[in-house]
Amino acid sequence: VTDLHESSVELASRLNSTAIIARVDEVRRLSDGVSEVSLEVGDAERIAGAPGNDVMVRLGDHDDHQIRRRYSVRSVDRTRGTIAMWIGTAHDGIGARWARGATRGAAVDVIGPRGKIELDSSATWHLFVGDTTALGAFARMIESVGPDASATLVVELDRLSDAHLPSPGGALRPSVVLAERRGRSPGDPRPLLDALNLVRLPEGPGHAYLFGELAAMHAVRAALRDRDLGDDAIDLKAFWRAGVGNQDHGEPPKD
Ligand SMILES: Cc1cc2nc3c(=O)[nH]c(=O)nc-3n(C[C@H](O)[C@H](O)[C@H](O)COP(=O)(O)OP(=O)(O)OC[C@H]3O[C@@H](n4cnc5c(N)ncnc54)[C@H](O)[C@@H]3O)c2cc1C
Repeated sequence: VTDLHESSVELASRLNSTAIIARVDEVRRLSDGVSEVSLEVGDAERIAGAPGNDVMVRLGDHDDHQIRRRYSVRSVDRTRGTIAMWIGTAHDGIGARWARGATRGAAVDVIGPRGKIELDSSATWHLFVGDTTALGAFARMIESVGPDASATLVVELDRLSDAHLPSPGGALRPSVVLAERRGRSPGDPRPLLDALNLVRLPEGPGHAYLFGELAAMHAVRAALRDRDLGDDAIDLKAFWRAGVGNQDHGEPPKD
């Protein structure tokens, strides 16, 4: 890739976003199941958007369809003009293969920022529930939680060595509950539901952010509704779906 694909320019303008040619800056294997890919993107703040946002990477095509995958921005280096993403690599897919094998200097066509879910500034507590794919988004969001609010992170992992956590400055000490999948099939919500049962929801206005496998996230939402959290206090985004690949535009099929 050396030129922006025409479809990326069109898509970005339809989404009111920006399309650029990025260069792979570095690929670091953080653990067996997660790699950090950083991209040189020029105006990093513009492409990265707000904590919770993601970028869309074009990874191939078939027939006339471009294959894109979406990855949340984990961190932004304004000075170097880079963004980093934490990408799950323990399955087989075009995105996982790219994250495992990307080489420094390679060009890739990127659209950003994408995504609508951001921190709820009126909340005094924030609850983040998800899996390995959500670690990057949650880390960046937790690092931007204000001094008067609390944060709780509940994540399901294939193995505990994949537990890459945020490093908030200041006084914030997030509570962290990790659930190890221990061979249960992806999409089985029980490890996350058991972990969530250990969490007491604080008093006052709060907000829950659910990013991860579709069926598991729906089960978590139902559990939070049962605990009297209203729908306006819950944001859910299905990142992938067990047993079926994401669609060419990067989202899992809904039915
Ligand atoms: C808005 C948004 C933000 C996202 N941010 C991130 C992020 O920051 N980091 C990240 O790692 N992912 C993130 N994802 C999820 C990522 O885009 C999907 O996991 C995507 O399916 C990976 O594409 P692939 O080509 O590797 O696999 P696909 O071709 O989509 O799937 C191939 C097979 O692998 C399975 N599979 C897909 N993903 C996983 C997984 N993570 N674990 C186990 N099995 C899987 C599928 O069920 C399928 O059977 C995000 C998704 C969205 C929509």
